[in-house]
Amino acid sequence: MSEEVFAFNADIQQLMSLIINTFYSNKEIFLRELISNASDALDKIRYKSITEPEQLETEPHLGIKLIPDKSNNTLTILDTGIGMTKADLINNLGTIARSGTKAFMEAISAGADISMIGQFGVGFYSAYLVAEKVIVISKNNEDEQYRWESNAGGTFSVVKDESVEKLNRGTKIILQMKEDQLEYLEERKLKDLVKKHSEFIGFTIELLVEKSKDKEVTESDDEAEVEKKDEEMKEGDEPKIEEETEKKDKKKDKKKKKIKEVTHEYEQLNKTKPIWMRKPEDVSKEEYASFYKSLSNDWEDHLAVKHFSVEGQLEFKALLFVPKRAPFDLFETKKKKNNIKLYVRRVFIMDDCEELIPEWLGFVKGVVDSEDLPLNISRETLQQNKILKVIKKNIVKKCLEMFAELQENQEDYKKFYEQFSKNLKLGIHEDSTNRQKISELLRFHTSKSNEDQMSFKEYVQRMKEGQKDIFYITGESRAAVSSSPFLEGLKKRGYEVLYLVDPIDEYMVQQLKDYDGKKLKSCTKEGLDLEDTEEEKKKKEEQKAKFEPLCKVMKDVLGDKIEKVVVSTRIDESPCVLVTGEYGWTANMERIMKAQALRDSSMTSYMVSKKTMEINPNNPIIDELRKKAEVDQADKTVKDLIWLLFDTSLLVSGFSLDEPNTFAGRIHRMIKLGLSIFEEETKEDELPPLLESEAQPESNKMEEVD
Ligand code: ADP
Repeated sequence: MSEEVFAFNADIQQLMSLIINTFYSNKEIFLRELISNASDALDKIRYKSITEPEQLETEPHLGIKLIPDKSNNTLTILDTGIGMTKADLINNLGTIARSGTKAFMEAISAGADISMIGQFGVGFYSAYLVAEKVIVISKNNEDEQYRWESNAGGTFSVVKDESVEKLNRGTKIILQMKEDQLEYLEERKLKDLVKKHSEFIGFTIELLVEKSKDKEVTESDDEAEVEKKDEEMKEGDEPKIEEETEKKDKKKDKKKKKIKEVTHEYEQLNKTKPIWMRKPEDVSKEEYASFYKSLSNDWEDHLAVKHFSVEGQLEFKALLFVPKRAPFDLFETKKKKNNIKLYVRRVFIMDDCEELIPEWLGFVKGVVDSEDLPLNISRETLQQNKILKVIKKNIVKKCLEMFAELQENQEDYKKFYEQFSKNLKLGIHEDSTNRQKISELLRFHTSKSNEDQMSFKEYVQRMKEGQKDIFYITGESRAAVSSSPFLEGLKKRGYEVLYLVDPIDEYMVQQLKDYDGKKLKSCTKEGLDLEDTEEEKKKKEEQKAKFEPLCKVMKDVLGDKIEKVVVSTRIDESPCVLVTGEYGWTANMERIMKAQALRDSSMTSYMVSKKTMEINPNNPIIDELRKKAEVDQADKTVKDLIWLLFDTSLLVSGFSLDEPNTFAGRIHRMIKLGLSIFEEETKEDELPPLLESEAQPESNKMEEVD
């Protein structure tokens, strides 16, 4: 069989040279990555064997072996997992790059640590941190035994493995260690590493160790015998348990002497009793952390953990973790989820069971071990499975408990909220049953609290006497909303306003209508009834009557750009704002929707709400305009000013200008006015129409003819 040579995929090549050339001292993580791959491969064959028991016939034992060989400077990692076919070797170890390949390199150049490699799904290549050459020999039940080899020089070779040494099934990874990495052949080092990173692997990890013991032999028992035994050991991997029945005391008169006998045997390094089967009080924080890391490939400890069991009609144990950070691809919908591992009576079933946890809790990692599910549960039957539905409900409940407990430590909760607030808000949007509970977990900056974020509960406690509603404003940033004219009236009345400046907030408030019996009111939408005193009400009525004519003129000029013009109570200083309908989109939502490249725009026309212009009767511009309009409605300056006010209100209210050029033209005209540049009448008439839609209302046209 001739050897085939392949070039690594370009991204992988780049990744490998980065791994080889970056100065990085924490090289030990390679072992964790390779053991984790071995464990995955073992999980796969065990799962397959549930429906196809004959799959295990080739090799019934499931486990991992580590074989250091100091005479050849190699470290071998052997598993009896599912193995790889020829095609698997070519695709998985070199030609197909996954999304994580690039993402990992980007993360590294942004200052991330190489030990994060496992999270990006390219852990295998970490072998090159310590090895100059890697050989992978693999046997899958569906194929012959193949051998993959590469010294990372841009290519790898694959050839059918004709050597005498056959694997029954599984993968053998032989690392030819770099000269300066021989410490990883030391027994002590390997034991420490397995304890540190791989203690909770659910399969046996055995290390081939050298044992020397004193043995008494009679002189005539020649030493050759001992040597012979030692020789045998070197050839095969499997150690022979030393027979201790050397009872050659037939001739008592023979002299006895002690010799050192060296044997090789496997020593199991990990306990395989699953951590979730132990009582929570017997598990230390370090053990949880260590298990969490092996489960998640995270390099940092978890932020919170919940370990519980449910008994009764249905029985299961679960261990849930909140990580310290959101993964790089948290909301990437196509990615394979790898968060909650499902076990049935200690047998691993699958690691991306979507039926166990809702999407909004996609950042929670953990295991669930059910006593009730059938072992041969298939993906197809998962969806209808009632047991899973109950488990899911319990998991959500426990997650909420875990988050609520996190609140007790302000610093931790802050970290949690920074990372996962989007998930909570998605939860509000999607999980109607738990909406109220989730709303307790939300935090916002407010008009009265720019430093610390407030909960709804705190907001309600601070509400002014007589305040009925909870006020909020949505917008692009805290800076933008805090200076918004929409807050003027509320601030003056002493009301606190929540700042909702995350795009997902817009979606969230569509679902979250109230909290603790108090309505959530947007201060940029219609229907903001600020309780006025009798006196204020009377004054407003008077102003309404006084400004009625101006409102009409403005509506006439602006035409269908706006629904109506009314006298405002929500602004206190600014001349005017544009508010949107109670059930339509806010300006902020319009902005968000416009930014979505793949959006279907057919909804837009329904959802873009009609704008109402609200004018401030106490503002001198508005008052002056009223007087001017009373004198001559058709005055060109009046119209120009109305359009200018409209455009500036669009901007301050968070909308974008449809025609920025027209706006600029109008501003320029004002500047000329300010600079006393008076152009000839004719020239001014030649100016392009200010707005296409600037249709002259009938009455005005008549006057113009005049
Ligand atoms: P990940 O394990 O995160 O998918 P890796 O780069 O570590 O990424 O491994 C790439 C792929 O190679 C794995 O997804 C798996 O299909 C295959 N693989 C690696 N090691 C083994 C192994 N010991 N046995 C079987 N398949 C393996």
